[in-house]
Amino acid sequence: MVQLLKMEGIVRTGAVEKAMLETPRHIYVPEGIRHLSYEDAPLPIGEGQTISAPHMVAIMCEALQLKPGEKVLEIGAGSGYHAAVMSRIVGGKGMIFSVERIEAVAKNATLNLEADGRVNVKVVIGDGTMGLPEFAPYDAITVTCAAPEIPKPLIEQIREGGRILIPIGRMPSDLILAIKNGPKLEKKNLGGCMFVPMVGEYGFKDL
Ligand code: SAH
Repeated sequence: MVQLLKMEGIVRTGAVEKAMLETPRHIYVPEGIRHLSYEDAPLPIGEGQTISAPHMVAIMCEALQLKPGEKVLEIGAGSGYHAAVMSRIVGGKGMIFSVERIEAVAKNATLNLEADGRVNVKVVIGDGTMGLPEFAPYDAITVTCAAPEIPKPLIEQIREGGRILIPIGRMPSDLILAIKNGPKLEKKNLGGCMFVPMVGEYGFKDL
């Protein structure tokens, strides 16, 4: 699967390739559909949520250019798979905080990450549109659900020069990469993508 993503030009760097090769996706996929773990497709994980498709995880990891030692905030832990891949890129000196609003989903993600031996990922139950101020500022924020606009608390919790990657708008959403430069955000549209909607204080109100 990773070889295919490499041939398609989606996996571009050694860091993302290594992290994806080392992450056993089947741990993060529900038992009944585990045989589909290495297909490049999103899969249902219960509670109406999905584990992201591997190509989307690769696109997002490549776009963020995570470096060893970085502190990253993810909004939408889902299965924990995306966090697991990022945790391998940032390494033992780095840390991934992942906020998930559905308690059962968050508990399952924690179990999956434990089974995968991920000690540098912490899943927190809560409304991710408010970010996670306790551990701010973050080098990078990655949002894995689609938002109507970039939530203000998230902008505040990025360090100067840090970046945020977030799907904006209803399906298909635009994947926006923004870099915090003083009072401004320098934004770049990386193209269309499909994500479940973000709900919560700064999320969609009319689902
Ligand atoms: N990154 C995940 C896929 C996430 S699916 C993976 O690799 O498996 C999107 C997740 O965002 C869902 O679990 C959904 O419950 C969560 N979500 C939606 N709105 C949220 C919010 N306001 N705060 C935290 N999580 C949210």
